[in-house]
Amino acid sequence: MNSKLLRKLPKVDELLMEERVKEISANLIREQVVDVIRAVVETKRKTILESEELLSESFVSYDTVVEEVIEAVNYSNIKSLRRVINGTGVVLHTNLGRAKLAKSAMEAVAEVADKYSTLEYDPVKGRRGSRHDHVEKIIEKITGAEAAMVVNNNAAATTICLATLGRGKEIIISRGELVEIGGSFRIPEIMEESGAHLVEVGTTNKTKLKDYQNKINEQTGALMKVHTSNYKVIGFTEEATLKELVNLGKEADIPVIYDMGNGLMVNLRDYGIDEPTVKEAMSDGADVILFSGDKLLGGPQGGVIIGKKKYIDMMKAHPLARILRVDKMTLAAMEATFKEYYDDDNAKEKIPTLKMLTRSSKQLEDAAGDLLALIKEKAPEFSVSIEQTEDVVGGGSAPATILKGYSVSVFSEKISAQELEKSLRTDAFPIIVRINHDKVLFDVRTLTGDEYQIIAERLGKIIREK
Ligand SMILES: *Cc1c(COP(=O)(O)O)cnc(C)c1O
Repeated sequence: MNSKLLRKLPKVDELLMEERVKEISANLIREQVVDVIRAVVETKRKTILESEELLSESFVSYDTVVEEVIEAVNYSNIKSLRRVINGTGVVLHTNLGRAKLAKSAMEAVAEVADKYSTLEYDPVKGRRGSRHDHVEKIIEKITGAEAAMVVNNNAAATTICLATLGRGKEIIISRGELVEIGGSFRIPEIMEESGAHLVEVGTTNKTKLKDYQNKINEQTGALMKVHTSNYKVIGFTEEATLKELVNLGKEADIPVIYDMGNGLMVNLRDYGIDEPTVKEAMSDGADVILFSGDKLLGGPQGGVIIGKKKYIDMMKAHPLARILRVDKMTLAAMEATFKEYYDDDNAKEKIPTLKMLTRSSKQLEDAAGDLLALIKEKAPEFSVSIEQTEDVVGGGSAPATILKGYSVSVFSEKISAQELEKSLRTDAFPIIVRINHDKVLFDVRTLTGDEYQIIAERLGKIIREK
């Protein structure tokens, strides 16, 4: 019944020649623009054919279609992976890219990205070098480990470690530590994939050293401890400490693997974050320690493996090493990140994740005051106030830790919190916020000073367009 509209639908060629379309697509590749126009016209054609309601003539009017094409061309030019502003107060926000890189790491990436580099070349010897070397020395220096290796992420680190030390053998692990990390990473499944045979001991809440001891036999490949980084078992609980496991492993001549997840390098207990550090795991004597690059270490996505040279060398020689290897940009960022750890105070200043987690209450309250003043100036239509909030580390780290935070809340009768949140998020440059009751909250812990201006101006624009 709508089919007579088909004839009136503007043609692709006609739209391509339209001045307004030409103007906005001057710097774009012609094929990209043609594709977008085709998609718009095709969608309209389909709607005409399939719609059960009677469509009006304006549905296919030249101006309507030109406007839709302009919007679609503009949208197609927005990068899919792009910057957002994180106003949630969640520091390691997995959906928003986990750790922000240190400036030095970002510069290191930029230096090797569009230039040739020493990736697998030793300029002193004038011959082939190893890509592992760039990060190995610095990681050894900072952690005190005998050897180190970096793979794609901690899931990859766990996989290559188990495939190397556990294939065809038994790995003993507590039932209280059979964790699932987000994105369908489950320890028992990884174990199976790597060809290791899982031997569970103890119960969900209690596992004693004796439980491990009783299961050791000539098939045992390793004892494994997994830090329950994204949940906590409290109450009637017991676990064998890493140190106890290491002693047991030594007696039986079996390696002890510790998957610690977070990769925290400096003690943050003074800041209310009670998580084990890499240094503690090293001094407890684990043979192999695994952790993520982009959790509390605050670097690029990666899986860092440190420990005894004998085991790391076996992993480097494993066929999976080639499959799980990282690229030059990751190596560059990782090297620079570790260099910030020569000094703990320097790291707390230069590594954004640590800086955000160690900001004092006073600093956060002052920051909220600055943001509030700017919003009052640029968007006076909103009623604003400073509110105390509960911040979390995020990224499946330190689940029971609540950090005292500060937010600026905004409210207006003219726009609901849901509508405002959506408007902030769906812009080409998204601002991600939380809603509390009928107010939108901007949590300053995860914001930087230069973002306050952008937020204040955006709020002004949104409310004036209402
Ligand atoms: C986060 C985590 C992983 C997975 O690390 P990715 O780097 O995300 O692959 C594995 N084990 C533990 C204990 C973790 O906390």
